[in-house]
Amino acid sequence: MKEISCKLLVIGAGPGGYTCAIRAGQLGLDTVLVEARKPGGTCLNVGCIPSKALIHAADEFHKVSEIAKGESPLGISVSNPAFDLSKAVAWKDGIVGRLNSGVSGLLKRAKVKVVEGWAVFRDGKTVQVETELGTQVIRTENVVIATGSTAAQLPFLPFGGPVISSSEALDLAEVPGKLVVVGGGYIGLELGTAFAKLGSKITVVEAQDRILPLYDAELTRPVAKRLKELGVEILTGTAVKGLGKDDALLVEGPGAEPQAVAADRILVTVGRRPATEGWGLEAIDLDMDGRFIRIDDRCRTSMRGVYAIGDVTGEPMLAHRAMAQGEMVAEIIAGHRRAWDKVAIPAVCFTDPEIVAVGLSPDDAKAAGYDVKVGVFPFQANGRAMTLERDDGFVRVVARADNHVLLGIQAVGAGVAELSASFSLAVEMGSRLDDIAGTIHAHPTQSEGFLEAALKSLGRAIHV
Ligand code: FAD
Ligand code: NAD
Repeated sequence: MKEISCKLLVIGAGPGGYTCAIRAGQLGLDTVLVEARKPGGTCLNVGCIPSKALIHAADEFHKVSEIAKGESPLGISVSNPAFDLSKAVAWKDGIVGRLNSGVSGLLKRAKVKVVEGWAVFRDGKTVQVETELGTQVIRTENVVIATGSTAAQLPFLPFGGPVISSSEALDLAEVPGKLVVVGGGYIGLELGTAFAKLGSKITVVEAQDRILPLYDAELTRPVAKRLKELGVEILTGTAVKGLGKDDALLVEGPGAEPQAVAADRILVTVGRRPATEGWGLEAIDLDMDGRFIRIDDRCRTSMRGVYAIGDVTGEPMLAHRAMAQGEMVAEIIAGHRRAWDKVAIPAVCFTDPEIVAVGLSPDDAKAAGYDVKVGVFPFQANGRAMTLERDDGFVRVVARADNHVLLGIQAVGAGVAELSASFSLAVEMGSRLDDIAGTIHAHPTQSEGFLEAALKSLGRAIHV
């Protein structure tokens, strides 16, 4: 096949890679994007989007099921609700398909050349791609490595048979009767909650002494309470030993005898690993940061002209971080003066209730040496939350005591994911408590919790 030469070659069409390629194309850079699978990467095909689709389907079914039990104070009655997982999966696949086409269309409009196949480095300026039509050699001035991540396996519990990763969990033909989730982090609890709402008996096995150890205990408490209400059993401080008789999972809790937890499926969600194998990393010998590719504040690797973005470069492994890096790198390669100067990267956990965290928690802020003001407003005192039948959770602001500049904002509550934008904006813009307190927040909305938390930290809350 004829060799291709370009200004920019992007490897991987996940949110990092496709955003980088689209922005580069918009800036007039001659750009090639290589992807072995479908455009959109983990996020669009087996991650963010399909998981949120399944969570929504589960929420809807659960709501109707609760009403059918005669537990609705709203005067609604329903009988015999039923759920067909294969239909919900087909609906989810439709959304994924629409977005795949959307990304392809955007790449085309930006005049990005897409090569389908697996890329392997020959050297820092040359990559070969195994395509259906043969080997395509691409020579480039700049390369962006955006190869993403893959699900981590436990050596004594490899994927296969009843042991599944999140990708298989999103494509099941039927709801498992008993689902054991290993790892009570993001994926385990998002999907575990969804399957609990669809009727599975869920057991979560978490090695640490509490679920979602990434977030502070105050934020995760309402999630733990809700999981209990949903009948989810949580075994914390518990080690997994392997598979036992009849595919039961052997676990050992603190000071307890080993026990077998019966399972139809075992979903292993113990983190993700950067995808650094099989594409010739050894040929370019980049400096590493543990398992991740080491980058600087411009996403430059240790080799000139070779950049890396997204999950392959480290935590937090989030789609919006990958996208922001991709956009920045395209501009840098186009000659713009850019560097990573973000104050905070928001994190949203789509559990029930949802968790949002932007910037520093009170403990983080104190550990960083700040004298802080903290304001907490409970949704129990928020009219909108009551009208939505969900007044669990709160909004919390953390600010410097001396000048009131916001250091962090967190919330836990039903639907609070949508508050993440105003939290991020406030922190990124260096807002002070007084700016939030002086901004009219529409009534009745959950966002009034943000206003009230700021007022509370200033000692002048109205509604609490
Ligand atoms: P990826 O999306 O992993 O894309 C990398 C792409 O590179 C893949 O398509 C792969 O096929 C391709 N590739 C790799 N090597 C080669 C090669 N040699 N040649 C050609 N192509 C190659 N994040 C959030 O922010 N919010 C969420 O709600 C969220 N939910 C998630 C739910 C689940 C179940 C999972 C698994 C992840 C979730 N994430 C979420 C994380 C998010 O998906 C990742 O952070 C994001 O996809 C990383 O983007 P990326 O571009 O770095 O890599
Ligand atoms: P995670 O890091 O969120 O959680 C892994 C959990 O497994 C941790 O609580 C850890 O203590 C536990 N664990 C590790 N080894 C264990 C073992 N041997 N036995 C029992 N427990 C064990 O990882 P994840 O849930 O696999 O998600 C991977 C990444 O994907 C996340 O870190 C996040 O970056 C991304 N993600 C984000 C979202 C979102 O933004 N809403 C959703 C899903 C995934």
